[in-house]
Amino acid sequence: MNVLVINCGSSSLKYQLIDSNSEAVLAKGLCERIGAPGSVLKHQPAGGDKVAIENPMPTHTTAIQMVIDALTDANHGVVKSLDEIDAVGHRIVHGGEKFASSVVIDDEVMKAIEECNDLAPLHNPANLIGINACKEIMPNTPMVGVFDTAFHQTMPEKAYLYGLPHSYYDDYKVRRYGFHGTSHDFVSARAAEILGKKREDVKIIVCHLGNGASISAVDHGKCVDTSMGLTPLEGLMMGTRSGDIDPAIVEFLAKKLGKTLEEVTTILNKESGVYGLSGGISSDFRDLSAAMDEGNLLAKAALEAYSYRVAKYIGSYVAAMNGVDIIAFTAGIGENDGRVRGMVGQYFEYLGTSIDPEKNKVRGEECIISNPGDKVTVMVVPTNEELAIARETVKLV
Ligand code: AMP
Repeated sequence: MNVLVINCGSSSLKYQLIDSNSEAVLAKGLCERIGAPGSVLKHQPAGGDKVAIENPMPTHTTAIQMVIDALTDANHGVVKSLDEIDAVGHRIVHGGEKFASSVVIDDEVMKAIEECNDLAPLHNPANLIGINACKEIMPNTPMVGVFDTAFHQTMPEKAYLYGLPHSYYDDYKVRRYGFHGTSHDFVSARAAEILGKKREDVKIIVCHLGNGASISAVDHGKCVDTSMGLTPLEGLMMGTRSGDIDPAIVEFLAKKLGKTLEEVTTILNKESGVYGLSGGISSDFRDLSAAMDEGNLLAKAALEAYSYRVAKYIGSYVAAMNGVDIIAFTAGIGENDGRVRGMVGQYFEYLGTSIDPEKNKVRGEECIISNPGDKVTVMVVPTNEELAIARETVKLV
């Protein structure tokens, strides 16, 4: 079965066509600048060269049509016709409390997703536009929605409630939701599998360290806590997001800078994190590491503060689960940045675990990086959100 996995943003659209039998990626690509001048589709068939197709994409429907044309093209296509696309899996950012698992998309589901728009005003409307565009072009193809928040819906009340008047939860559903759920689910399942164990038998902490970063505690197969909150701004320090700060800083800065609350929130989302802390060197950890090697003290401070925060979260989740068996690193930084993993690992002594510097050189591959006999197994497990979405889609259709 061929599954088209779609991750639709407000002006971009990423896709992968996955053969669910072999789990091979047949083709993947990205539409950029949808609805703006200079839109382009970058398409790559497996084993073939990347092609850039420049064409106006006034709407997401035109973008999807271009994706279908590219997938069925005589030269760089990978299937003969639309009929060979059996199902579509859509990544949806926010499912609120309505979705604790993936669902086949119908009119009722569309309505329920729309009701979550308030919670993710930048993402959910774009996800819905993507679904509508696909429905227009492929009206008879089954579609599945896979939610970033769903895996975290098993969190107990004590983990998801904020210390706010309870009425804000009752009236507005202000609570912790968590994101990157597909990745936390995929990586925790794979981590247990690598050790030949059932996920239901172990305690796992997943550190998803990408440009956005979150960490989760998966206790006997269920997520019991995670670091992102009502929005993806909470928790770890990230590329450009602040993560946890004293909430009073928002008003303090608004007054000092003469900015509105929205403007300060934008600073917290786009100009903070390691980018802001390093004095604007970069949000990319490769640049920060290079700057640190050249003796840049701000880059060093940013990397140290980043790693310290990850280590503190790990400690709090060890407490939440009363122990841990596996700590798994994933996503761009978690999979590739041995320096950051090593800096986090410096705090593992109390766990009876340490990271082997040789094994820690690994990049983008599954690898156990702790020492044999250590009490806690530390490992690198590459995430694959698209494959996870394709698997969910197959399961439901
Ligand atoms: P993601 O959001 O998972 O795609 O992660 C993207 C981030 O991973 C980039 O912004 C980099 O900071 C980081 N990254 C990617 N490759 C490397 C690498 N080889 N070494 C260190 N960091 C990396």
